[in-house]
Amino acid sequence: MTRKVRTRIAPSPTGFLHLGTARTALFSWAFARHHGGDFILRIEDTDEARSTQEAVDQIIAAMKWLNLAHDEGPFFQMQRLDRYREVIGQMLDDGTAYACYCTPAELDEMREAQRARGDKPRYDGRWRPEPGKVLPPPPDGVKPVIRFRNPPSGAVTWEDMVKGPITISNAELDDLIIARPGADAATLIGTPTYNFCVVVDDWDMDISHVIRGDDHVNNTPRQINILRALGAELPVYGHVPMILGPDGDKLSKRHGAVSVTQYESAGYLPEAMLNYLARLGWSHGDEELFSREQLVSWFDGQHLAKSPAQWDAAKLNWVNAHCLKALPDDTLAAHAVARFAERGIVAAADAQLGRMCALFKDRCATTVELCDWLAMYFSEVAPSAQDLTTHVTEAVTPAVHSLRERLTDIEWTKAAISAAIKEVITAHGIKMPTLAHAVRVLVCGRAQTPSIDAVLELFPREVVLARLQIT
Ligand code: GLU
Repeated sequence: MTRKVRTRIAPSPTGFLHLGTARTALFSWAFARHHGGDFILRIEDTDEARSTQEAVDQIIAAMKWLNLAHDEGPFFQMQRLDRYREVIGQMLDDGTAYACYCTPAELDEMREAQRARGDKPRYDGRWRPEPGKVLPPPPDGVKPVIRFRNPPSGAVTWEDMVKGPITISNAELDDLIIARPGADAATLIGTPTYNFCVVVDDWDMDISHVIRGDDHVNNTPRQINILRALGAELPVYGHVPMILGPDGDKLSKRHGAVSVTQYESAGYLPEAMLNYLARLGWSHGDEELFSREQLVSWFDGQHLAKSPAQWDAAKLNWVNAHCLKALPDDTLAAHAVARFAERGIVAAADAQLGRMCALFKDRCATTVELCDWLAMYFSEVAPSAQDLTTHVTEAVTPAVHSLRERLTDIEWTKAAISAAIKEVITAHGIKMPTLAHAVRVLVCGRAQTPSIDAVLELFPREVVLARLQIT
C-alpha cells in the first residue's frame, strides 16, 4: 500500500452513538492502527433541523469511553460550508456542475409524465449543458439548484473491501443536486447537499479507506463520479452489512438498547463492547476473546463478513463476564465506586472493596450486577417475606441466637466464623444449610450467596450482630 492509510468515522449528530456506528468506528480505527495510519472524527451536522449539541457531546463521550481515540478532528461540516461552496464554484467554472432552474412544479410535472409513459422518474437534463445545445435564458425569480453533471454513459465499478466488485450503471444515476437554492439573488450557491459534503471532506481529509454501513452503497457511485470530476484520488470503499436484531430485522430500539451510552450505564465494560462488536461481521479464525492489541494486530481488512451479523445479548454478557473477571480487584473496585455513586451510595475504592469484588465477580455479567450484590455491605437489606418464612423458621431461631452469641467475641476471620458456625450446628443438631440460609436471609437479604463465612467476614462485626438480632 503506497497511500498512507487514513480512515474516518462520520456520525450524524441526530442521536446517540448507535451500536452500528460504533462498530464502523471500531473497524475504521482498528484498520488505521493496524497500518500505522490516522483515524479521523468528522461530525456530519448539515441536517440542521435534526442535529443537536447534546448528540455531538454524547457521540464524543461514547467514543472516548470505547477508547477509540481519533488523530484528527472532530471536524464539523457546518464549519466547512465556505469550502464546499468554493469547490462548487470551481465545478461551475469547469463545467462539471450547472445551475438548474426547474421549479418544483416543473419537476413534478416531469415525473408525472415519465410515470404515465411507464418510465422511471428522473431528471431529464433540461438545464444540462451539452455541446451545441442552446439553453433557455434563466427564468426571472427562480433560484436555481446546482446539479452535478454525471457521466451520461458507462458504469461505475469499485472493488469493495467487504462485498467484492460492485458495478452500477451511470444510466441509473440522475444529475445529483449538490447545492440547494441560495437564500437571495446574490447567492447562487445555497446549502450544499449531503453526498457532496462527504465527497469534499473525504478528498480534503485525504481519506484512503471509507468503511461504512451498507446503507450507503447507493451513494458510492455518485460520490465516485464527483471525486473523479474533481480529479481526486479515490478511496477504497468497504460497506459493512447491517447488524440485525434477533428477529432478523435491522437492529433498532424495538430490540432493546442500541446506544453505546446505554450499555455503559448498564454495566458493560468498554473492552467487552469492543471485543463483542468486533466479532459482529469480522473474524480471526475461531478467536472469540481477544484484547484491543490483538484486534489491532489482526485487523488487516480481510475476513469482513458479507452477510449481516445478528445481535446476541447472551454472547455480549458472556464476553463482558469474561472481561470483568479478568480485571484486577482494585480496578473493579473503582468501577463499583462509580456505580455506587449513581445510587447515592458512598464507598471507597479500598482493599476491602477489592476483596468484596473478588468474592462476587464470578457471579456477575456486569458491574451493575456486581453492585447489586455488594449493596448489602453498604446499605440496609430487606429480606422478602417469603424468604423469611421459608428460611428463618422457629426451629432455626435458637441456633441463630447461639451463633450471634458466638460471633460477639471471636476473632473476625473467615476461619473463626466458619468454626463458630460448625460448633453451633453441632450443638443444635441441625444441618449446615438450615443455619446458613437463615443467616444469609437475615444478613444479606437473600438466600443464595457465596460461602457464608467468606461473605460475613467482609461485613463489620456490628452489622452482622445487628442483622442477626431476632426474637
Ligand atoms: N453520516 C453518515 C452516517 O451517519 C456516514 C456517512 C459516511 O460514512 O460516509 O450514516
